[in-house]
Amino acid sequence: MPNADGPNLRGFLREIRRLDTEARLRAAEGRIAELEQRLAELSLLDPVTGLPNHRRFSDRLSQALLMAQRHRGAVGVIQLDLDRFKRVNDLAGHAGGDDVLRQVGRRLQGALRQGDTLACMGGGRFMALLPELPHALGATRTAQKLQEALQAPFPAGAREIGLEASFGVCVFPQDGMEAEELEAHAEAALYRAKERGGGRIECFTTTLDRDALERQELEQCLREALRNREFQMCYQPQFRMDGRLAGVEALLRWNHPMLGPVPPGKFIPLAEESHLILPIGEWALRESCRQMALWNQQGLTSGPEPLVLAVNVSALQLTQNNWDQCVVRALADSGLRPGQLELEITESLIMRQGPEDILPLRRLRETGTRIAIDDFGTGYSSLGYLQRLPITTLKLDQSFIASLQASPGEPASEPIVRAVIQLAHSLGLTVVAEGVETEGQRDMLDLLGCDCLQGFLLGRPLPADGFEALLQSMAARGFLEAPAIRAQGPSR
Ligand code: C2E
Ligand code: MG
Ligand code: MG
Repeated sequence: MPNADGPNLRGFLREIRRLDTEARLRAAEGRIAELEQRLAELSLLDPVTGLPNHRRFSDRLSQALLMAQRHRGAVGVIQLDLDRFKRVNDLAGHAGGDDVLRQVGRRLQGALRQGDTLACMGGGRFMALLPELPHALGATRTAQKLQEALQAPFPAGAREIGLEASFGVCVFPQDGMEAEELEAHAEAALYRAKERGGGRIECFTTTLDRDALERQELEQCLREALRNREFQMCYQPQFRMDGRLAGVEALLRWNHPMLGPVPPGKFIPLAEESHLILPIGEWALRESCRQMALWNQQGLTSGPEPLVLAVNVSALQLTQNNWDQCVVRALADSGLRPGQLELEITESLIMRQGPEDILPLRRLRETGTRIAIDDFGTGYSSLGYLQRLPITTLKLDQSFIASLQASPGEPASEPIVRAVIQLAHSLGLTVVAEGVETEGQRDMLDLLGCDCLQGFLLGRPLPADGFEALLQSMAARGFLEAPAIRAQGPSR
Protein backbone atom coordinates (compact mmCIF):
# COMPACT_ATOMS: atom_id res chain seq x y z
CA MET A 1 0.00 0.00 0.00
CA PRO A 2 2.70 2.59 0.83
CA ASN A 3 4.53 2.06 -2.50
CA ALA A 4 1.41 2.26 -4.64
CA ASP A 5 2.35 5.75 -5.86
CA GLY A 6 5.63 4.79 -7.58
CA PRO A 7 4.34 3.66 -11.04
CA ASN A 8 1.67 6.39 -11.07
CA LEU A 9 4.35 9.00 -10.62
CA ARG A 10 6.18 7.78 -13.73
CA GLY A 11 2.91 7.79 -15.70
CA PHE A 12 2.31 11.31 -14.50
CA LEU A 13 5.75 12.42 -15.72
CA ARG A 14 5.05 10.90 -19.16
CA GLU A 15 1.76 12.74 -19.28
CA ILE A 16 3.07 16.23 -18.38
CA ARG A 17 5.84 16.07 -21.03
CA ARG A 18 3.06 16.58 -23.55
CA LEU A 19 1.81 19.80 -21.85
CA ASP A 20 3.05 23.41 -22.25
CA THR A 21 5.06 24.99 -19.42
CA GLU A 22 2.13 26.79 -17.77
CA ALA A 23 -0.05 23.72 -17.79
CA ARG A 24 2.91 21.58 -16.59
CA LEU A 25 3.41 23.81 -13.54
CA ARG A 26 -0.29 23.74 -12.66
CA ALA A 27 -0.42 19.97 -12.98
CA ALA A 28 2.76 19.55 -10.92
CA GLU A 29 1.38 21.76 -8.14
CA GLY A 30 -1.85 19.79 -8.02
CA ARG A 31 0.07 16.54 -7.92
CA ILE A 32 2.36 17.74 -5.12
CA ALA A 33 -0.67 18.68 -3.02
CA GLU A 34 -2.16 15.24 -3.67
CA LEU A 35 1.09 13.52 -2.67
CA GLU A 36 1.41 15.61 0.48
CA GLN A 37 -2.08 14.62 1.54
CA ARG A 38 -1.35 10.98 0.84
CA LEU A 39 1.88 11.19 2.87
CA ALA A 40 0.00 12.78 5.73
CA GLU A 41 -2.52 9.93 5.58
CA LEU A 42 0.26 7.35 5.49
CA SER A 43 1.83 8.87 8.57
CA LEU A 44 -1.37 7.91 10.42
CA LEU A 45 -1.47 4.31 9.24
CA ASP A 46 0.37 1.21 10.30
CA PRO A 47 2.60 0.14 7.37
CA VAL A 48 1.95 -3.58 7.82
CA THR A 49 -1.80 -3.79 8.36
CA GLY A 50 -2.92 -0.46 6.89
CA LEU A 51 -4.93 0.09 10.09
CA PRO A 52 -4.83 3.43 11.94
CA ASN A 53 -1.62 3.70 13.93
CA HIS A 54 -1.12 4.98 17.46
CA ARG A 55 -1.16 8.67 16.43
CA ARG A 56 -4.50 8.40 14.70
CA PHE A 57 -5.87 6.32 17.58
CA SER A 58 -4.89 9.01 20.12
CA ASP A 59 -6.52 11.76 17.99
CA ARG A 60 -9.74 9.78 17.70
CA LEU A 61 -9.71 8.97 21.42
CA SER A 62 -9.39 12.69 22.28
CA GLN A 63 -12.31 13.52 19.96
CA ALA A 64 -14.41 10.70 21.40
CA LEU A 65 -13.74 11.98 24.93
CA LEU A 66 -14.88 15.49 23.98
CA MET A 67 -18.12 14.11 22.60
CA ALA A 68 -18.64 11.82 25.58
CA GLN A 69 -18.11 14.70 28.02
CA ARG A 70 -20.76 16.69 26.19
CA HIS A 71 -23.25 13.83 26.14
CA ARG A 72 -22.25 12.25 29.44
CA GLY A 73 -21.45 9.04 27.62
CA ALA A 74 -18.94 6.26 28.28
CA VAL A 75 -15.92 5.42 26.11
CA GLY A 76 -14.07 2.11 26.18
CA VAL A 77 -10.38 1.53 25.46
CA ILE A 78 -9.10 -1.99 24.90
CA GLN A 79 -5.45 -2.77 24.43
CA LEU A 80 -4.51 -6.26 23.30
CA ASP A 81 -1.25 -7.99 22.71
CA LEU A 82 -0.75 -11.30 20.93
CA ASP A 83 0.92 -13.64 23.41
CA ARG A 84 4.29 -15.02 22.30
CA PHE A 85 3.98 -13.44 18.83
CA LYS A 86 7.71 -13.77 18.26
CA ARG A 87 7.10 -17.50 17.89
CA VAL A 88 4.97 -16.77 14.78
CA ASN A 89 7.85 -14.89 13.13
CA ASP A 90 10.18 -17.75 14.04
CA LEU A 91 7.84 -20.31 12.47
CA ALA A 92 6.55 -18.42 9.45
CA GLY A 93 9.29 -15.87 8.78
CA HIS A 94 8.79 -12.09 8.80
CA ALA A 95 6.61 -11.98 5.69
CA GLY A 96 4.45 -14.80 7.07
CA GLY A 97 4.27 -12.99 10.41
CA ASP A 98 3.12 -9.79 8.67
CA ASP A 99 0.47 -11.77 6.85
CA VAL A 100 -0.83 -13.22 10.13
CA LEU A 101 -0.96 -9.69 11.57
CA ARG A 102 -3.12 -8.56 8.64
CA GLN A 103 -5.45 -11.52 9.22
CA VAL A 104 -5.64 -10.70 12.91
CA GLY A 105 -6.51 -7.09 12.01
CA ARG A 106 -9.31 -8.20 9.70
CA ARG A 107 -10.81 -10.58 12.28
CA LEU A 108 -10.67 -7.99 15.06
CA GLN A 109 -12.20 -5.37 12.78
CA GLY A 110 -15.00 -7.81 11.97
CA ALA A 111 -15.81 -8.22 15.67
CA LEU A 112 -16.13 -4.46 16.25
CA ARG A 113 -19.09 -2.21 15.49
CA GLN A 114 -19.16 0.51 12.88
CA GLY A 115 -17.89 3.66 14.51
CA ASP A 116 -15.36 1.77 16.64
CA THR A 117 -11.69 2.24 15.74
CA LEU A 118 -9.14 -0.54 15.59
CA ALA A 119 -5.52 0.55 15.59
CA CYS A 120 -2.30 -1.39 15.21
CA MET A 121 0.62 -0.29 17.30
CA GLY A 122 3.11 -2.70 15.73
CA GLY A 123 4.76 -5.75 17.25
CA GLY A 124 1.51 -7.66 17.63
CA ARG A 125 -0.21 -5.01 19.69
CA PHE A 126 -3.64 -3.54 18.86
CA MET A 127 -5.97 -1.01 20.43
CA ALA A 128 -9.72 -0.69 20.09
CA LEU A 129 -11.65 2.50 20.74
CA LEU A 130 -15.33 2.11 21.58
CA PRO A 131 -16.70 5.68 21.45
CA GLU A 132 -20.35 5.00 22.24
CA LEU A 133 -20.58 2.51 25.05
CA PRO A 134 -24.07 1.91 26.38
CA HIS A 135 -22.58 1.03 29.80
CA ALA A 136 -19.21 0.21 31.37
CA LEU A 137 -19.67 -3.56 31.09
CA GLY A 138 -19.99 -3.17 27.30
CA ALA A 139 -16.21 -2.79 27.01
CA THR A 140 -15.54 -6.15 28.64
CA ARG A 141 -18.19 -7.74 26.43
CA THR A 142 -16.43 -6.35 23.33
CA ALA A 143 -13.08 -7.65 24.60
CA GLN A 144 -14.70 -11.09 24.89
CA LYS A 145 -15.90 -10.81 21.27
CA LEU A 146 -12.38 -9.88 20.15
CA GLN A 147 -11.01 -12.83 22.08
CA GLU A 148 -13.50 -15.17 20.42
CA ALA A 149 -12.58 -13.79 16.99
CA LEU A 150 -9.01 -15.00 17.48
CA GLN A 151 -9.96 -18.51 18.54
CA ALA A 152 -9.76 -20.31 15.15
CA PRO A 153 -6.17 -21.02 13.98
CA PHE A 154 -4.52 -18.74 11.39
CA PRO A 155 -3.15 -20.11 8.11
CA ALA A 156 0.55 -19.22 7.79
CA GLY A 157 2.04 -20.62 4.62
CA ALA A 158 1.64 -24.37 4.63
CA ARG A 159 0.82 -24.56 8.31
CA GLU A 160 -1.79 -23.25 10.77
CA ILE A 161 -0.90 -21.28 13.85
CA GLY A 162 -3.01 -20.92 16.99
CA LEU A 163 -2.87 -17.52 18.67
CA GLU A 164 -3.88 -16.20 22.05
CA ALA A 165 -4.00 -12.60 23.21
CA SER A 166 -4.03 -10.70 26.49
CA PHE A 167 -6.53 -7.86 26.91
CA GLY A 168 -6.55 -4.77 29.10
CA VAL A 169 -9.82 -2.86 29.36
CA CYS A 170 -10.64 0.54 30.79
CA VAL A 171 -13.56 2.91 30.55
CA PHE A 172 -14.03 6.68 30.59
CA PRO A 173 -15.02 8.30 32.92
CA GLN A 174 -14.64 5.81 35.77
CA ASP A 175 -11.06 4.72 35.03
CA GLY A 176 -9.64 8.02 33.77
CA MET A 177 -10.57 11.34 32.19
CA GLU A 178 -7.68 12.04 29.76
CA ALA A 179 -6.70 10.16 26.61
CA GLU A 180 -3.17 9.48 27.82
CA GLU A 181 -4.36 8.32 31.20
CA LEU A 182 -6.88 5.91 29.68
CA GLU A 183 -4.27 4.45 27.35
CA ALA A 184 -1.88 3.97 30.27
CA HIS A 185 -4.59 2.33 32.36
CA ALA A 186 -5.56 -0.04 29.53
CA GLU A 187 -1.88 -0.92 29.24
CA ALA A 188 -1.58 -1.49 33.01
CA ALA A 189 -4.55 -3.86 32.84
CA LEU A 190 -2.95 -5.60 29.84
CA TYR A 191 0.25 -6.16 31.80
CA ARG A 192 -1.73 -7.65 34.61
CA ALA A 193 -3.37 -10.05 32.13
CA LYS A 194 0.15 -11.02 30.94
CA GLU A 195 1.40 -11.43 34.50
CA ARG A 196 -1.46 -13.78 35.21
CA GLY A 197 -0.39 -16.07 32.40
CA GLY A 198 -1.86 -14.36 29.31
CA GLY A 199 -4.87 -15.40 27.22
CA ARG A 200 -7.20 -13.43 29.49
CA ILE A 201 -9.05 -10.16 29.90
CA GLU A 202 -8.31 -7.79 32.78
CA CYS A 203 -10.22 -4.62 33.56
CA PHE A 204 -8.43 -1.62 34.98
CA THR A 205 -8.94 -1.24 38.69
CA THR A 206 -5.77 -1.17 40.69
CA THR A 207 -5.96 -3.16 43.91
CA LEU A 208 -6.14 0.21 45.60
CA ASP A 209 -9.02 1.38 43.46
CA ARG A 210 -10.81 -1.90 43.97
CA ASP A 211 -10.35 -1.70 47.73
CA ALA A 212 -11.44 1.93 47.74
CA LEU A 213 -14.57 1.06 45.80
CA GLU A 214 -15.39 -1.82 48.10
CA ARG A 215 -14.83 0.34 51.16
CA GLN A 216 -17.00 3.10 49.75
CA GLU A 217 -19.81 0.66 49.02
CA LEU A 218 -19.45 -0.99 52.41
CA GLU A 219 -19.50 2.40 54.13
CA GLN A 220 -22.68 3.31 52.27
CA CYS A 221 -24.28 0.04 53.43
CA LEU A 222 -23.04 0.71 56.96
CA ARG A 223 -24.82 4.08 56.94
CA GLU A 224 -28.12 2.36 56.27
CA ALA A 225 -27.51 -0.62 58.54
CA LEU A 226 -28.67 1.00 61.80
CA ARG A 227 -31.85 2.35 60.24
CA ASN A 228 -32.57 -1.02 58.62
CA ARG A 229 -31.99 -2.89 61.89
CA GLU A 230 -29.26 -5.05 60.40
CA PHE A 231 -27.19 -5.19 63.59
CA GLN A 232 -27.52 -7.79 66.26
CA MET A 233 -25.70 -8.43 69.52
CA CYS A 234 -24.25 -11.84 70.28
CA TYR A 235 -23.24 -12.96 73.75
CA GLN A 236 -20.25 -15.09 74.70
CA PRO A 237 -20.02 -16.54 78.22
CA GLN A 238 -17.07 -16.09 80.59
CA PHE A 239 -16.55 -18.62 83.35
CA ARG A 240 -14.65 -18.59 86.62
CA MET A 241 -12.15 -21.37 87.13
CA ASP A 242 -14.56 -23.10 89.57
CA GLY A 243 -17.09 -23.40 86.78
CA ARG A 244 -19.47 -20.59 87.71
CA LEU A 245 -20.68 -18.21 85.04
CA ALA A 246 -18.98 -14.88 85.70
CA GLY A 247 -20.01 -12.70 82.81
CA VAL A 248 -20.85 -12.30 79.21
CA GLU A 249 -19.18 -10.31 76.44
CA ALA A 250 -21.55 -8.57 74.03
CA LEU A 251 -20.23 -8.79 70.47
CA LEU A 252 -21.65 -6.85 67.57
CA ARG A 253 -22.84 -8.70 64.45
CA TRP A 254 -23.80 -7.17 61.11
CA ASN A 255 -25.96 -9.20 58.78
CA HIS A 256 -26.41 -7.36 55.48
CA PRO A 257 -29.38 -8.59 53.36
CA MET A 258 -27.20 -8.95 50.24
CA LEU A 259 -23.65 -9.30 51.57
CA GLY A 260 -24.57 -11.70 54.36
CA PRO A 261 -22.67 -11.59 57.67
CA VAL A 262 -19.82 -9.05 57.57
CA PRO A 263 -17.09 -9.83 60.15
CA PRO A 264 -16.45 -7.19 62.86
CA GLY A 265 -12.77 -7.10 61.87
CA LYS A 266 -13.90 -5.70 58.52
CA PHE A 267 -16.66 -3.26 59.41
CA ILE A 268 -15.54 -1.93 62.78
CA PRO A 269 -12.38 -0.20 61.46
CA LEU A 270 -14.52 1.27 58.67
CA ALA A 271 -17.14 2.41 61.17
CA GLU A 272 -14.36 4.05 63.17
CA GLU A 273 -12.91 5.89 60.17
CA SER A 274 -16.32 7.17 59.11
CA HIS A 275 -17.29 8.01 62.71
CA LEU A 276 -20.34 5.78 62.30
CA ILE A 277 -19.03 3.84 65.31
CA LEU A 278 -20.50 6.62 67.50
CA PRO A 279 -24.18 5.84 66.81
CA ILE A 280 -23.43 2.14 66.26
CA GLY A 281 -21.45 1.88 69.53
CA GLU A 282 -24.19 3.69 71.41
CA TRP A 283 -26.77 1.31 69.99
CA ALA A 284 -24.61 -1.70 70.97
CA LEU A 285 -24.28 -0.39 74.52
CA ARG A 286 -27.98 0.44 74.94
CA GLU A 287 -29.16 -2.79 73.33
CA SER A 288 -26.93 -5.05 75.45
CA CYS A 289 -27.81 -3.14 78.65
CA ARG A 290 -31.52 -3.51 77.81
CA GLN A 291 -31.06 -7.25 77.18
CA MET A 292 -29.10 -7.82 80.39
CA ALA A 293 -31.68 -5.93 82.44
CA LEU A 294 -34.37 -8.16 80.91
CA TRP A 295 -32.44 -11.30 81.91
CA ASN A 296 -32.08 -9.83 85.39
CA GLN A 297 -35.84 -9.32 85.59
CA GLN A 298 -36.43 -12.88 84.41
CA GLY A 299 -34.28 -14.12 87.26
CA LEU A 300 -31.79 -15.74 84.90
CA THR A 301 -28.68 -14.01 86.15
CA SER A 302 -28.93 -14.30 89.89
CA GLY A 303 -26.06 -16.17 91.46
CA PRO A 304 -23.88 -15.42 94.46
CA GLU A 305 -22.44 -12.55 92.45
CA PRO A 306 -24.21 -10.62 89.68
CA LEU A 307 -23.38 -11.54 86.11
CA VAL A 308 -21.17 -8.92 84.47
CA LEU A 309 -21.98 -7.59 81.00
CA ALA A 310 -18.84 -6.65 79.03
CA VAL A 311 -19.29 -4.17 76.17
CA ASN A 312 -16.52 -3.14 73.73
CA VAL A 313 -15.78 0.55 73.38
CA SER A 314 -13.92 2.16 70.50
CA ALA A 315 -11.28 4.90 70.60
CA LEU A 316 -13.55 7.46 69.05
CA GLN A 317 -16.27 6.96 71.64
CA LEU A 318 -13.75 7.48 74.39
CA THR A 319 -12.61 10.85 73.08
CA GLN A 320 -16.18 12.04 72.51
CA ASN A 321 -17.26 14.89 74.77
CA ASN A 322 -19.35 13.71 77.71
CA TRP A 323 -19.14 10.15 76.56
CA ASP A 324 -19.44 8.99 80.15
CA GLN A 325 -22.84 10.69 80.31
CA CYS A 326 -23.97 8.51 77.43
CA VAL A 327 -23.00 5.41 79.45
CA VAL A 328 -24.71 6.76 82.56
CA ARG A 329 -27.90 7.34 80.54
CA ALA A 330 -27.78 3.84 79.02
CA LEU A 331 -27.51 2.40 82.54
CA ALA A 332 -30.31 4.60 83.90
CA ASP A 333 -32.64 3.87 80.97
CA SER A 334 -32.15 0.13 81.23
CA GLY A 335 -32.13 -0.04 85.00
CA LEU A 336 -28.83 -1.96 85.03
CA ARG A 337 -26.57 -1.33 88.03
CA PRO A 338 -23.18 0.20 87.12
CA GLY A 339 -21.39 -2.70 88.87
CA GLN A 340 -22.89 -5.09 86.33
CA LEU A 341 -21.34 -3.26 83.37
CA GLU A 342 -17.75 -3.68 82.25
CA LEU A 343 -16.38 -1.50 79.45
CA GLU A 344 -13.69 -3.16 77.33
CA ILE A 345 -11.04 -0.90 75.88
CA THR A 346 -8.18 -2.32 73.85
CA GLU A 347 -4.71 -1.91 75.28
CA SER A 348 -3.28 -0.23 72.18
CA LEU A 349 -6.11 2.28 72.32
CA ILE A 350 -5.77 3.21 75.94
CA MET A 351 -2.02 3.66 75.46
CA ARG A 352 -2.70 6.38 72.90
CA GLN A 353 -4.96 8.43 75.19
CA GLY A 354 -3.83 11.53 76.99
CA PRO A 355 -4.62 12.00 80.68
CA GLU A 356 -7.70 14.10 79.82
CA ASP A 357 -9.18 11.22 77.78
CA ILE A 358 -8.88 8.98 80.81
CA LEU A 359 -11.05 11.35 82.88
CA PRO A 360 -14.43 10.03 81.65
CA LEU A 361 -13.19 6.50 82.46
CA ARG A 362 -12.20 7.65 85.92
CA ARG A 363 -15.61 9.27 86.47
CA LEU A 364 -17.35 6.08 85.30
CA ARG A 365 -15.18 3.93 87.54
CA GLU A 366 -16.23 6.12 90.48
CA THR A 367 -19.87 5.25 89.77
CA GLY A 368 -18.96 1.55 90.07
CA THR A 369 -18.69 0.67 86.36
CA ARG A 370 -15.99 -1.91 85.73
CA ILE A 371 -13.25 -1.25 83.15
CA ALA A 372 -11.28 -3.93 81.31
CA ILE A 373 -8.19 -3.72 79.16
CA ASP A 374 -8.87 -5.87 76.11
CA ASP A 375 -6.26 -7.75 74.04
CA PHE A 376 -3.71 -7.20 76.80
CA GLY A 377 -0.13 -8.03 75.86
CA THR A 378 -0.22 -6.56 72.38
CA GLY A 379 0.14 -2.88 73.23
CA TYR A 380 3.37 -2.76 75.28
CA SER A 381 1.86 -1.04 78.33
CA SER A 382 4.39 0.10 80.82
CA LEU A 383 3.62 -1.36 84.18
CA GLY A 384 3.65 2.05 85.85
CA TYR A 385 1.05 3.27 83.38
CA LEU A 386 -1.20 0.32 84.12
CA GLN A 387 -1.15 1.23 87.78
CA ARG A 388 -2.43 4.73 87.08
CA LEU A 389 -5.42 3.55 85.03
CA PRO A 390 -8.83 3.17 86.66
CA ILE A 391 -9.18 -0.48 85.64
CA THR A 392 -10.61 -3.63 87.18
CA THR A 393 -9.80 -6.34 84.64
CA LEU A 394 -7.07 -7.52 82.25
CA LYS A 395 -8.09 -9.61 79.25
CA LEU A 396 -5.11 -11.66 78.07
CA ASP A 397 -4.85 -11.56 74.29
CA GLN A 398 -5.76 -14.71 72.37
CA SER A 399 -2.27 -14.95 70.86
CA PHE A 400 -0.77 -15.71 74.28
CA ILE A 401 -3.33 -18.39 74.95
CA ALA A 402 -2.74 -19.98 71.53
CA SER A 403 1.00 -20.28 72.20
CA LEU A 404 0.72 -21.44 75.82
CA GLN A 405 1.73 -24.91 74.77
CA ALA A 406 4.10 -24.32 71.90
CA SER A 407 5.31 -27.06 69.59
CA PRO A 408 8.95 -28.12 70.05
CA GLY A 409 11.36 -25.38 68.96
CA GLU A 410 8.78 -22.57 69.29
CA PRO A 411 8.85 -20.17 72.21
CA ALA A 412 5.98 -20.80 74.61
CA SER A 413 4.14 -17.83 76.12
CA GLU A 414 3.78 -19.55 79.50
CA PRO A 415 6.40 -17.42 81.35
CA ILE A 416 4.77 -14.20 80.07
CA VAL A 417 1.27 -15.34 81.02
CA ARG A 418 2.52 -16.35 84.46
CA ALA A 419 4.16 -12.92 84.96
CA VAL A 420 1.11 -11.00 83.72
CA ILE A 421 -1.22 -12.90 86.03
CA GLN A 422 1.07 -12.23 89.01
CA LEU A 423 1.37 -8.57 88.12
CA ALA A 424 -2.39 -8.19 87.63
CA HIS A 425 -3.11 -9.83 90.97
CA SER A 426 -0.62 -7.59 92.71
CA LEU A 427 -2.59 -4.63 91.35
CA GLY A 428 -5.88 -6.20 92.47
CA LEU A 429 -7.08 -6.89 88.92
CA THR A 430 -9.12 -9.80 87.61
CA VAL A 431 -7.54 -11.75 84.72
CA VAL A 432 -9.69 -13.12 81.90
CA ALA A 433 -8.08 -15.39 79.28
CA GLU A 434 -9.54 -14.93 75.79
CA GLY A 435 -9.69 -17.52 73.02
CA VAL A 436 -9.46 -20.67 75.14
CA GLU A 437 -9.94 -23.49 72.68
CA THR A 438 -8.38 -26.61 74.20
CA GLU A 439 -8.50 -28.48 77.48
CA GLY A 440 -4.71 -28.25 77.65
CA GLN A 441 -4.90 -24.45 77.59
CA ARG A 442 -7.63 -24.48 80.23
CA ASP A 443 -5.60 -26.71 82.55
CA MET A 444 -2.48 -24.63 82.12
CA LEU A 445 -4.39 -21.40 82.85
CA ASP A 446 -5.82 -23.03 85.93
CA LEU A 447 -2.31 -23.88 87.13
CA LEU A 448 -1.11 -20.34 86.44
CA GLY A 449 -3.90 -18.89 88.58
CA CYS A 450 -6.03 -17.21 85.89
CA ASP A 451 -9.42 -16.00 87.18
CA CYS A 452 -11.79 -16.36 84.23
CA LEU A 453 -11.94 -18.08 80.84
CA GLN A 454 -13.62 -17.14 77.61
CA GLY A 455 -13.37 -19.14 74.39
CA PHE A 456 -14.84 -21.65 72.02
CA LEU A 457 -14.04 -24.51 74.43
CA LEU A 458 -16.56 -23.10 76.89
CA GLY A 459 -19.03 -21.40 74.60
CA ARG A 460 -19.22 -19.52 71.31
CA PRO A 461 -20.93 -16.14 70.93
CA LEU A 462 -24.69 -16.79 70.72
CA PRO A 463 -27.60 -14.61 69.62
CA ALA A 464 -29.76 -13.32 72.50
CA ASP A 465 -32.27 -16.20 72.33
CA GLY A 466 -29.50 -18.81 72.22
CA PHE A 467 -27.76 -17.26 75.22
CA GLU A 468 -31.07 -17.03 77.04
CA ALA A 469 -31.59 -20.77 76.50
CA LEU A 470 -28.11 -21.36 77.97
CA LEU A 471 -28.97 -19.22 81.02
CA GLN A 472 -32.26 -21.06 81.44
CA SER A 473 -30.67 -24.50 81.29
CA MET A 474 -28.03 -23.45 83.81
CA ALA A 475 -30.59 -21.86 86.13
CA ALA A 476 -32.73 -25.01 85.89
CA ARG A 477 -29.77 -27.06 87.12
CA GLY A 478 -29.45 -24.66 90.02
CA PHE A 479 -25.95 -23.43 89.26
CA LEU A 480 -24.30 -21.19 86.72
CA GLU A 481 -21.69 -23.69 85.70
CA ALA A 482 -19.89 -24.54 82.46
CA PRO A 483 -20.11 -28.22 81.49
CA ALA A 484 -16.57 -28.14 80.07
CA ILE A 485 -15.07 -26.98 83.35
CA ARG A 486 -17.29 -29.24 85.44
CA ALA A 487 -16.03 -32.27 83.48
CA GLN A 488 -12.61 -31.71 84.91
CA GLY A 489 -13.88 -30.97 88.39
CA PRO A 490 -13.58 -27.69 90.28
CA SER A 491 -9.94 -27.19 91.05
CA ARG A 492 -9.79 -23.91 92.90
P1 C2E B 1 -12.56 -8.79 71.14
O1 C2E B 1 -13.28 -7.76 71.93
O2 C2E B 1 -11.20 -9.17 71.59
O3 C2E B 1 -13.52 -10.04 71.08
C1 C2E B 1 -13.11 -11.38 71.13
C2 C2E B 1 -13.14 -11.97 69.76
O4 C2E B 1 -12.60 -13.27 69.80
C3 C2E B 1 -14.55 -12.12 69.19
O5 C2E B 1 -14.44 -11.95 67.80
C4 C2E B 1 -14.87 -13.56 69.53
O6 C2E B 1 -15.86 -14.13 68.70
C5 C2E B 1 -13.53 -14.20 69.31
N1 C2E B 1 -13.37 -15.44 70.07
C6 C2E B 1 -13.92 -15.79 71.24
N2 C2E B 1 -13.49 -16.99 71.64
C7 C2E B 1 -12.62 -17.43 70.69
C8 C2E B 1 -11.84 -18.63 70.54
O7 C2E B 1 -11.84 -19.53 71.34
N3 C2E B 1 -11.06 -18.70 69.43
C9 C2E B 1 -11.01 -17.71 68.51
N4 C2E B 1 -10.23 -17.87 67.45
N5 C2E B 1 -11.74 -16.58 68.63
C10 C2E B 1 -12.53 -16.45 69.71
P2 C2E B 1 -15.44 -11.05 66.99
O8 C2E B 1 -16.82 -11.17 67.54
O9 C2E B 1 -15.20 -11.35 65.56
O10 C2E B 1 -14.97 -9.59 67.32
C11 C2E B 1 -13.75 -9.11 66.89
C12 C2E B 1 -13.45 -7.78 67.50
O11 C2E B 1 -14.35 -6.79 67.03
C13 C2E B 1 -13.60 -7.76 69.00
O12 C2E B 1 -12.45 -8.32 69.59
C14 C2E B 1 -13.74 -6.28 69.28
O13 C2E B 1 -12.48 -5.64 69.29
C15 C2E B 1 -14.49 -5.82 68.05
N6 C2E B 1 -15.92 -5.68 68.43
C16 C2E B 1 -16.89 -6.61 68.51
N7 C2E B 1 -18.06 -6.05 68.90
C17 C2E B 1 -17.81 -4.73 69.09
C18 C2E B 1 -18.61 -3.60 69.52
O14 C2E B 1 -19.81 -3.71 69.84
N8 C2E B 1 -17.98 -2.37 69.57
C19 C2E B 1 -16.67 -2.23 69.26
N9 C2E B 1 -16.14 -1.01 69.34
N10 C2E B 1 -15.89 -3.27 68.88
C20 C2E B 1 -16.45 -4.49 68.81
MG1 MG C 1 -13.58 -7.46 73.72
MG1 MG D 1 -9.96 -9.27 72.83
